[in-house]
Amino acid sequence: MHALLRLVLAAVAVAASSSARPEIVTRLPTDEKVVALTLDACEAGTVTHLDHGVADWLIAHEVPFTIFMGGRFARDNAEDVARLGALPFVEIENHSWSHPADMRKLSTPEVMKQVLLAELEIGLKTGRVTRFFRFPGGNADARTIAAVEAMGYRIVHWRWPSGDPDKHIPAAKLESYALSATKPGDVLIFHINGNGVHTAEALPAIVEGLKAKGYRFVLLRDYLPPVTH
Ligand SMILES: [Zn+2]
Repeated sequence: MHALLRLVLAAVAVAASSSARPEIVTRLPTDEKVVALTLDACEAGTVTHLDHGVADWLIAHEVPFTIFMGGRFARDNAEDVARLGALPFVEIENHSWSHPADMRKLSTPEVMKQVLLAELEIGLKTGRVTRFFRFPGGNADARTIAAVEAMGYRIVHWRWPSGDPDKHIPAAKLESYALSATKPGDVLIFHINGNGVHTAEALPAIVEGLKAKGYRFVLLRDYLPPVTH
């Protein structure tokens, strides 16, 4: 392992042992009619690509959104990721390096390495620093949460899943469910790496429908303060 990486891991391991109470954010702390649209760009063993049907529409309409991006995804989609990184209304956050199905099975240094490698890769491709983390599959426990928080991250999951990886859920159903389930402060979760089968088809109606109900789309950083130690 690279000497610098070893040093950083050692430093954060010390910080992890004294971390405050672990916390997973599942909604924004507000009663305002706002939602954070988050889209996962997972990449495990197989290369995945940016879903342009999703990204291009959101960008053309300047809808603020947050991508939880895997490090491998950033590596394998360099041009698209650099373009996304130049957009002020797009947040790019950390979704681990290789998307392990259950990070609770990893040692604490392995958890930290997953986060750090993704942070470095996203930083290289965008010049940005990631400060929010989402565990693959939402699989986390007190130890893994504390480890990631010690690295200066806030963990952001969701209150209800959209169901968009399920090919049996048609666009109309994704839409009607999202419009009925959304409450003020919700963190919506969809996919932007092709895992969302009908996402591109459903998202315009979901965004327009929520706007018609008086919702505003915001970024995580607008409502979630950074982690302090
Ligand atoms: Zn994922």
